[in-house]
Amino acid sequence: MTLSCVVIEDLLPAYCDGTCTAESRAAVEEHLADCPRCRRFYTALSRPLPLEASREAAAPLHPVEKQWNKKKRVDLFRGGIAMLFLGVAVFLVLVALQLNVSLPLSQEDIVINQVTELSDGSINVDLWVDDAAHSISYQWSEDHVLYLIPQRSIFAFGDDISEGRQSNETFYVLPKGETEAEGKLGIPLPSDVKAIYVGPEKDAVLVWQPGQELPPASPEVEQRIQAEKGF
Ligand SMILES: [Zn+2]
Repeated sequence: MTLSCVVIEDLLPAYCDGTCTAESRAAVEEHLADCPRCRRFYTALSRPLPLEASREAAAPLHPVEKQWNKKKRVDLFRGGIAMLFLGVAVFLVLVALQLNVSLPLSQEDIVINQVTELSDGSINVDLWVDDAAHSISYQWSEDHVLYLIPQRSIFAFGDDISEGRQSNETFYVLPKGETEAEGKLGIPLPSDVKAIYVGPEKDAVLVWQPGQELPPASPEVEQRIQAEKGF
């Protein structure tokens, strides 16, 4: 049985659905074997629609894609947090370097060698500090007590720390109403100074109070102080 292309085109949808008769099926197959034009039409009909095809192909990917996106977001978040911490750390180090941040030494790292009176009446506090990389901070309490607090620099490393260092702190008390005194050695103290302590306030050691008798400084100490002060 030979059918025209027009008839085959009519039959093809039913053929594709498998709803045509066996007779029609045989006729369609016979025609398709010989007619390239109707074969192309048949191929087009039997292929799923492009939209359906893409949706079917993409469907199994959805959960993977979702998970991937989530992972990417988590990674970005973690990266952001890490960068933030790094930034803060760098900032703190820079601030610490800028301020030369230091920590108070404990009393066991400080030896008070002697407290003496220089020939001009100045008070000399001679310390040995078991930490070469140190500075002395002066802190006043509200009741006019001076604390000499040796500090260890946070950014001191290696041999610097273990050597230990001599420290001479020299003060004189200003006569009431005066703001400076000519020719005196050391740092002026206000006339209302109540005491001088060494060490952090909680375990500080009293080294001088007004009216206290001090032993005179040795000539060596006098010379050393003069040299240090550049006289
Ligand atoms: Zn045909």
